[in-house]
Amino acid sequence: MAMAPLYESQELKVYNSITGIKETFTPITAGNIGMYVCGPTVYSNVHLGNCRTFISFDLVFRYLKHLEYKVRYVRNITDAGHLENDSEDGEDKVSKKARIEQLEPMEIVQRYTLDFHNVLAKFNNLPPSIEPTATGHIIEQIEIIKSIIDNGFAYEANGSVYFDVKKFNETNKYGKLSGRNLEDMIANTRELAAQSDKKNPQDFALWKKAEPEHIMRWPSPWSDGFPGWHLECTAMSTKYLGDQFDIHGGGMDLKFPHHECEIAQGEASCGKSPVNYWMHANMLTLNGKKMSKSTGNIISPAEIFEGGNTALSKSFAPTVARFFILQAHYRSILDFSNDALEASEKGFYKLMEAIQTLEKIAPTSTTTGFAIDQWKQECYDAMNDDFNSPILIAKLFDAVKFINNLKEGNNSISTTDLEVLKNTMHGFVFDVLGLVDTQSDSSTSGIGEKLSGTVELLINLRAEARANKDFATSDKIRDELLAMGIQLKDGREGTSFSIN
Ligand code: AMP
Ligand code: ZN
Repeated sequence: MAMAPLYESQELKVYNSITGIKETFTPITAGNIGMYVCGPTVYSNVHLGNCRTFISFDLVFRYLKHLEYKVRYVRNITDAGHLENDSEDGEDKVSKKARIEQLEPMEIVQRYTLDFHNVLAKFNNLPPSIEPTATGHIIEQIEIIKSIIDNGFAYEANGSVYFDVKKFNETNKYGKLSGRNLEDMIANTRELAAQSDKKNPQDFALWKKAEPEHIMRWPSPWSDGFPGWHLECTAMSTKYLGDQFDIHGGGMDLKFPHHECEIAQGEASCGKSPVNYWMHANMLTLNGKKMSKSTGNIISPAEIFEGGNTALSKSFAPTVARFFILQAHYRSILDFSNDALEASEKGFYKLMEAIQTLEKIAPTSTTTGFAIDQWKQECYDAMNDDFNSPILIAKLFDAVKFINNLKEGNNSISTTDLEVLKNTMHGFVFDVLGLVDTQSDSSTSGIGEKLSGTVELLINLRAEARANKDFATSDKIRDELLAMGIQLKDGREGTSFSIN
């Protein structure tokens, strides 16, 4: 008989942004999950803030897979259509960059898509199941506009098409995700004279007629133009996941207007609210302010991996930065600092060392000092509680303490428990958190590997000094390493070291 999938024995709760509560997660089709996450606009290099959001949803993807759900994860590439500051007029971001760099818009798109993939691979993010592009789905977007017009929720004006928010609000509620209501929005808007063809300032563009200088343009029943910003996600999510699907994610800053408009478009085109669980990842801040391309308040992934930013004392392995990010819950604000990253690095190596130690532990007939099965369920409980990675990591460190006790001979572990402990540690650390042991993996920057190589060299020099009765030198090596937090231990098999 086949084993029941893991999700059947776990109760996953997900904080749903639209209801504001943690809800028991039930997929539309048992055992299958459809998840859509808004991807990047590929007109510049991603910064660490963007990466935080994509790492947050990688954790979600990994845990859902770990629970043995079949997950279809769709994350788009926004390669067309956004206007500067999402305004009604002006140039789109891709075309503007193309003009500045004297390149084809699609060269810009290709360059920054590659950068995005490269950076996320360094962070050990899994690729999504489908990665559709906005420009590859113009026909689908036009079809949705037609159905919204047919249903009476959009109007054409001078070759552009706008969503009629007021009309929509008569039968549906506009603002349910962001907790706004249309009357307040209208009261708070100061209408600019002759600002646009819109009936109301709250209306948003579904299609924009292109000005003669606008490079990225497509034919449509209304004009040669380009789709509105919000429409691509409606088109690509519903094309691959159906009119209604399980999870839609993105950064907190996309809640309004982007996701609010997606709900309106979904309801207006097919009469159904598109998403069951809305998930929003919180922001990474730098000096207390949102990391943001437009203000220049950013740290780039390259600066983390290679150094070179004055805010950083040194470079850090991508997996260390990933660990730093996962030490905060995805719904909490996380402030970036060099000190916090250094602290994460220490914790990371301690965790890796414990996992390596585990390989050398010899089991005995009984386990003392640790309730393995209970601990294992507590690890699941942490993740079942809206993907609480910081609590999970605290649980993993309970195991680190136990492993170190095993090493010292203070506790013992049975053969069966040792298997459970190893599998659970590996499952959560490598599969769910997606960390990489830099000492055993040469694909990452290998700082851990280089560090241990350097310490091995010093251990050999110390052994030579001792053989020559040069105790001043041998003690100096031991003491100075200790001052740096690296402890040498002399044993029967030679000298080993640990990082405190
Ligand atoms: P964009 O390319 O601007 O659409 O951003 C891509 C993703 O990064 C979106 O989901 C944003 O919400 C997210 N994002 C932007 N800035 C930050 C930040 N400082 N912290 C976390 N996520 C962010
Ligand atoms: Zn989107």
